[in-house]
Amino acid sequence: AAKGEKRGTCRSFRLGMDAAAQEKTRLENDFRDALKLGQLYVHYQPLVDLTSGAVECFEALLRWHHPVRGSVSPDVFIPLAEEIGLIDAVGRFVLHTACREAQNWPEHIKLAVNVSPLQFRNGNLISTVINALTSANLPPERLELEITEAVLMEKGPRPSAIIRNLRTFGIGIALDDFGTGFSSLSYLLNYPFTKIKIDKSFIFDLERESNSRAVIRAVIGLARNLGLTVTAEGIEREAVRDYLRDEGCLQGQGYLFGRPSPASEMQRYLSCDVRRDAA
Ligand code: C2E
Ligand code: MG
Ligand code: MG
Ligand code: MG
Repeated sequence: AAKGEKRGTCRSFRLGMDAAAQEKTRLENDFRDALKLGQLYVHYQPLVDLTSGAVECFEALLRWHHPVRGSVSPDVFIPLAEEIGLIDAVGRFVLHTACREAQNWPEHIKLAVNVSPLQFRNGNLISTVINALTSANLPPERLELEITEAVLMEKGPRPSAIIRNLRTFGIGIALDDFGTGFSSLSYLLNYPFTKIKIDKSFIFDLERESNSRAVIRAVIGLARNLGLTVTAEGIEREAVRDYLRDEGCLQGQGYLFGRPSPASEMQRYLSCDVRRDAA
């Protein structure tokens, strides 16, 4: 009986695996169609000056509306796109869409676009970025690319050479989700980043965790000493905004200021912002 049980467990485990693998294959196939069928679209979330509240930048965040599953998180479909070799096509779509949209914004407002470390593997990232800027007639200084520490794990001189090259056009380079990766501080010095984004996990925890406050303070000091801008993501409450501002963090992003929303809502948001500036 024990033996039978074991085999049964094993079989259902394997069945479970099969089901999971099938589900994954289905999701992959659906994603292949998503790009073609126009199910992908871009939302924008404001990054604001923590003192004045004025919008300084919008981050482009990709969305997938699946006809049956509904909204699928980018934390699910971005890794999937990377795995099935579609991340370059997806990256191109986001860059072109967002640059075209940013052309409608006031000139002082920047656009931030996330770039996957895998987009540094083939040689096309620079030409993709420049193409998107040129066809939207957007000055390179208005674009900021957000990359995670994972890019620093890519082997060879490639990523740093590409980042340097992008910088020569005046494109900003932000280190996203800072504090969650495994990179050492010396990496920071070897790449010409223009901004550090403190990961939202530290921001969520700052009221409960003195360790998070210590990390936040250290990162703000580091950024200042290196001459980099620092942004905090995940600001949901006024008290947190006030704390970060008093610590010397100049820019922030979070539901307190606005959730990722369609471009049309951003236009409305901007007109409110202009009214607030005037008041
Ligand atoms: P990220 O680049 O760190 O983007 C910030 C994430 O934090 C977004 O999640 C945003 O909605 C969320 N967020 C911002 N403020 C708050 C807040 O106050 N509270 C909470 N709970 N969340 C907040 P989202 O849109 O789900 O994106 C998740 C991740 O997916 C992004 O993290 C980025 O790594 C990736 N991603 C999204 N769009 C793209 C893209 O076009 N290309 C690439 N390569 N990755 C993307
Ligand atoms: Mg980002
Ligand atoms: Mg982030
Ligand atoms: Mg993230």
